[in-house]
Amino acid sequence: MNLLIDVCIVMDVCAARSPHAEFSAMALQHCSNQGGTLWLYVGSLQTLKYTLYRELKRSVEPGVNPPGNRQLMQRAKDLLKAFAADKQWLAALAEEGPVFDSPDPEEEQLMRALGRFSPGDIQLLTRDELLCERYPDLTITPEQYLQQPPIPRPVDFIDLKAQQNLVRPGLELGIHRVLHHGRYIMGPEVGELEEKLAAFVGSKHCLSCSSGTDALLMALMALDIGPGDEVITVPYTWISTAEVIALLHAKPVFVDVRPDTFNMDPDRIEAAVTPRTRAIMPVGIYGQCADMTRINAIARKHNIPVIEDAAQSFGADHHGKKSCSLSTIGCTSFFPSKPLGCYGDGGAVFTDDDALADRMAQIRVHGQKVKHQHPLVGINGRLDTLQAAVLLEKLKLFPGECDLRWDVGQRYDRLLSGIAGITTPVIEPGNTTVYAQYTLLTADRGQAEDNLKTQGIPCVAYYAVPLHLQGAFRDLGHQPGDFPVAERVASYCLSLPMSPYLTDEDQEPVAQALRGG
Ligand SMILES: *Cc1c(COP(=O)(O)O)cnc(C)c1O
Repeated sequence: MNLLIDVCIVMDVCAARSPHAEFSAMALQHCSNQGGTLWLYVGSLQTLKYTLYRELKRSVEPGVNPPGNRQLMQRAKDLLKAFAADKQWLAALAEEGPVFDSPDPEEEQLMRALGRFSPGDIQLLTRDELLCERYPDLTITPEQYLQQPPIPRPVDFIDLKAQQNLVRPGLELGIHRVLHHGRYIMGPEVGELEEKLAAFVGSKHCLSCSSGTDALLMALMALDIGPGDEVITVPYTWISTAEVIALLHAKPVFVDVRPDTFNMDPDRIEAAVTPRTRAIMPVGIYGQCADMTRINAIARKHNIPVIEDAAQSFGADHHGKKSCSLSTIGCTSFFPSKPLGCYGDGGAVFTDDDALADRMAQIRVHGQKVKHQHPLVGINGRLDTLQAAVLLEKLKLFPGECDLRWDVGQRYDRLLSGIAGITTPVIEPGNTTVYAQYTLLTADRGQAEDNLKTQGIPCVAYYAVPLHLQGAFRDLGHQPGDFPVAERVASYCLSLPMSPYLTDEDQEPVAQALRGG
């Protein structure tokens, strides 16, 4: 729930204007306590400053040495600074400018700003009786607000709002910069982002691209994988991992996963290697890298490149190195709900190999190296400049968010330990995880889902059907029972709400529900 704070409420809090000013402060506190967001409208700045100045001036006691106008203005600014410190600034948009046909342009401006939110998602907190009369659905007084029954705060499966509140000013600036320079394709933000991502990962080259799926596709294409080739991967992952192999008319060769980490079981790889094997593609499922050390050693022995599908593990460490820097090519996704997400589709590839980086750069723009020359078949695989701008801002928070994700996971582990029928995630020594999902094994998934859903807690069975049993791969001729570990995990897995900003108060009810209510 959002509240936009009208000027009169700010006066209540900063200058105790109305006889009921204390209710205004209480209403704001009530909103914060419930996890709501408090907004100040940028377009009101000048009104705020002068109204407060006038209030302060009005309340000056006559006597010796009354404060001067400059002092009063400074005091008004100081009070507003303190008041605004924990509020969000709602930017004024151009659409809110041409309001001169309205009998009250300021009011019209404010109402247009409210119109940006989904219906019912925001109210104007005000004491203005005329406004309340004219816009009963959009306004609420502090007294009315305090009388509302508390709205239970819903836990999102993946909460993106808390993070947005932390970076909103930078996000808006970044997006507007792109609107102004107009270089929507391969604008300067794209190169800047790639440099920062490469530095973060510790990889020589980073190429951003249009999605995690296209990152995998570009990696396979750069390795010239095609008809007749085999790529060893896992049946327990998101469809993209094997889909891109099939798209290139190569054959996904599945090996089962480990029962503890749900990642590729290195012990099963060599049995799957044939003279046609052209790559090994492990996945860092739920945010933890596969055993890349052993997988790389096997790959080296057979002289096969390794493509890491790090769509979920971006930000995680494996023996002190970052996911995406661990193999021939690392691929990740910036889909909004991934550990580092943009506000649309996006992805990136990483490599230390100059020639592969060059090829992938070419594949990303239709196989083109020099304008009008297309020596390779490529794709349209670029990341939008707007998404790069979003990612640049979010990347500033990301290292801290990885730590927070770890803490949230540890807290789940603690809260859930000892609940009958629940197995919490296993993180291997030498690994950290970013918990793209916090995924349990449950003895009775239906019951666990029911328990959570009756408490309004979202949960998802990622991934309920392993890839070898998907219709898309029926040509591979697999049967139930071919990959028993993956099938067992698929039957019992359950992912809980996850975000770096979950608190004890968010997580405790989840544990409570899983305990049976
Ligand atoms: C999300 C995901 C992808 C695909 O990423 P998109 O950006 O959605 O195309 C690939 N592999 C895994 C393991 C994923 O989780």
